[in-house]
Amino acid sequence: MTSQSYDVVVVGAGIVGAACADEFARRGMRVALLDRDMVGGGATAAGMGHIVTMDDSEAQFALTRYSQQLWQTLRPELPDDVEYEDCGTIWVAADEEEMQEVFRKQNYYGQRGVPAEVLDPNALRECEPNLREGIAGGLRVPEDVVLYPPCAARFLMERALKHSATLRVGSVVVEAGQGIVRLANGSEITAEIIVNATGAWAPELTPGLEIKKRKGHLAITDRYPGYLRHQVVELGYLKSAHSVRSDSVAFNVQPRRSGQLLIGSSRQYGADHKEVDAVILARMLQRAQEYMPGLRQMSTIRTWTGFRAATPDKLPLIGPSPVDRTLFLATGHEGLGITTSLGTARLLADLITGANTAIPLAPYLPSRTREHVHA
Ligand SMILES: Cc1cc2nc3c(=O)[nH]c(=O)nc-3n(C[C@H](O)[C@H](O)[C@H](O)COP(=O)(O)OP(=O)(O)OC[C@H]3O[C@@H](n4cnc5c(N)ncnc54)[C@H](O)[C@@H]3O)c2cc1C
Repeated sequence: MTSQSYDVVVVGAGIVGAACADEFARRGMRVALLDRDMVGGGATAAGMGHIVTMDDSEAQFALTRYSQQLWQTLRPELPDDVEYEDCGTIWVAADEEEMQEVFRKQNYYGQRGVPAEVLDPNALRECEPNLREGIAGGLRVPEDVVLYPPCAARFLMERALKHSATLRVGSVVVEAGQGIVRLANGSEITAEIIVNATGAWAPELTPGLEIKKRKGHLAITDRYPGYLRHQVVELGYLKSAHSVRSDSVAFNVQPRRSGQLLIGSSRQYGADHKEVDAVILARMLQRAQEYMPGLRQMSTIRTWTGFRAATPDKLPLIGPSPVDRTLFLATGHEGLGITTSLGTARLLADLITGANTAIPLAPYLPSRTREHVHA
């Protein structure tokens, strides 16, 4: 049995773990980043890469907006293959009822300094001519962007390595806590601080975490340059994201730099196998075609699935474990972990180094879920 020692061991090299390793290493800490597989190969490889401000709750808004601004700041350093694109989001309102939500959202964003423009049917058509006729309007949020998550994770990991972090792929962690990380090969690593950043698998290492796998499907088309200009999402997406029981699908398309269209998305609980579910996929594509009929003529060249790490209150777990002072959590980001990776890492590192956090940490602290359980 061998034993090595670090200030921080981050378990899980998805975008959240890579961002944490980067943040700790840049603050001069001795960091090891471990993954059983590869960097950015979990949900990070499956996600859409929409860096989006959301407003389900004040806490969700604070973390998504803060993180989006961190991405904006990082932009000049990002290599070309991260494919950072300022395309903006258009939230599409199918009818007058959904237009009310457009006005509410614009008002909410406006009060908090996020630019957002209401589009009437003509303006919407000018922005996205391939949407179907008869849509009531939309909301354009120009500061939302898209990027390619696996390359963003790789960039963060490489920046951590430049600051003397160690990367150990092929490290299957079987136990993490009380300052010791045990690997399946029998070796041990000791650390002042352990960060569980294993996404949807986090409860396997930290039993009792209230995280459920929430499966999602995506499809990507062949190249159709110029067909789509913004990330376009139906406002009904929010209903889909909020539903806790039934399987749901929503229209959510993203233009890739290659001219391909990334089509999402679905949400399912209780589907722990990673195979594509033909019924859900067909429902998802049908939904997309209802909003953008031209998609019917396009060829889809690949489909896949991924697992979001869902918490009961839809906020991530960022901060110390309530029962182990060496263990910190950075998981539970559901469908927003690409966006919120940078904010998560910054908050965690600020907390651990005793710096002031830019936004209040309380809504994300893991101890809150214990309060829920006992409430
Ligand atoms: C279909 C879909 C679309 C999405 N779209 C978006 C989007 O547009 N915008 C957005 O912000 N977010 C989106 N997300 C969410 C986002 O992908 C995730 O929140 C994010 O990738 C989570 O990153 P992570 O690093 O926490 O987890 P992961 O990327 O899953 O990484 C966890 C890592 O831990 C490793 N691991 C697990 N267990 C162990 C162990 N025992 N030992 C060692 N290593 C271990 C795994 O190998 C993996 O590499 C989407 C997700 C899905 C599924």
